[in-house]
Amino acid sequence: MIVHADHVLPGDAPPIRDGAVVVSADGAIEDVGHAAEVLPRHAGAPIERVHGVVLPGLINAHTHLELSALRGLVPGGRGFLPWVDSLLAARVDAVPEDSPESIEAAVSELKRHGTVAVGEVTNSVAAAEHLARSRIEGSIFHEIFGVGGDVADRAEEMLQASRAGTHRWPELAYVPTAHTLHTTHADVVRKIAQHAKDAGLRTSLHLAEHAAERRALEHGDGPVTDWLRGRLRGAAGVVWPMQSPIAYADALGALGPHMLLVHLTDATAAELERVAQSGSYVVLCPRSNLYIEGRLPPLLAARSAGIEAALGTDSLASNASLDVLAEARALADRFSTVPAVDLVRMATYNGAVALGRTRLGRIARGARPGVVAVDIADAAQSHDGAALLLRHVKAPRRWVARAREIH
Ligand SMILES: [Zn+2]
Repeated sequence: MIVHADHVLPGDAPPIRDGAVVVSADGAIEDVGHAAEVLPRHAGAPIERVHGVVLPGLINAHTHLELSALRGLVPGGRGFLPWVDSLLAARVDAVPEDSPESIEAAVSELKRHGTVAVGEVTNSVAAAEHLARSRIEGSIFHEIFGVGGDVADRAEEMLQASRAGTHRWPELAYVPTAHTLHTTHADVVRKIAQHAKDAGLRTSLHLAEHAAERRALEHGDGPVTDWLRGRLRGAAGVVWPMQSPIAYADALGALGPHMLLVHLTDATAAELERVAQSGSYVVLCPRSNLYIEGRLPPLLAARSAGIEAALGTDSLASNASLDVLAEARALADRFSTVPAVDLVRMATYNGAVALGRTRLGRIARGARPGVVAVDIADAAQSHDGAALLLRHVKAPRRWVARAREIH
């Protein structure tokens, strides 16, 4: 089949105005380019004409689907710790943990937005079955939280499960993951990072998300230390490193190509340079940062450092939707100097690279990314298909080719 569109956004290459994509029956990309060149090469093949934009399936590199029942229940705008307290209260009071209905609805939402892969951070692994059944790919980042008690034993169980391949879902990697540098014991962070490195896996870490995290790590005081003493067993015995979040991550072996560093909202330009040099992957969650703290991730400094960041929605406890293209739109609205095509790349190809799945995220020969169409009136008149797409982020999306068989 040939998909002939006003604009093809390949994800990893410049946009093609009046483009065409040739897709085999099993979803593999056979050809892509200007329609005037591609159409004659495949004369006789059926053509689907899209008046609008086509792009590869989206990659949402940071989600917490098990929090989906909390949509609309956790107020934002008051800073990180009040948000966490509200989240914990809502989890106890309002809804059953891991409600299968809310996870199933969240997975349906991901598919409706055109998502083919996620980086799912989870305490319960509850969402893995739902994702596997829907043929959504990616990583299950099994998160460990705690600085005392049995945290070392629980971490060891996860590491054993990872080594033994206990958890197996089609097309989902299972990777033990630390929550943050201040809520997961330093020895556990070190072990988890080392395991990912040794096993050729990538693990995830929330890092430099807010100023109170930096204050605790650099000075051993402030709201995070007070909060932890009231909340976490063993917190009174924590020895603070008196180092910046990035330096401390480095000291624990948690910088490098085995790491997905999530947020970096509070990272300085110099720290972003250090992150870039380490080869770590970066995931930004702008709408979650805006919701919780009214703050934006340092996109321009990250770009100056040469970081090709991916995007994630974070959970529905701090976001209105699981649409990673809406993250790109949120950045487009606030960083007018950043080309729209680069923002679409963050929601597609950069996410595929971060999750180690470059068969996805790009409409290129040999890839099998899933192809999404967005019908937009008068699209042929537009010079910038990516900007047009982000302006129409609410327009319905439809699959014109699947990445995998979907049930
Ligand atoms: Zn998160």
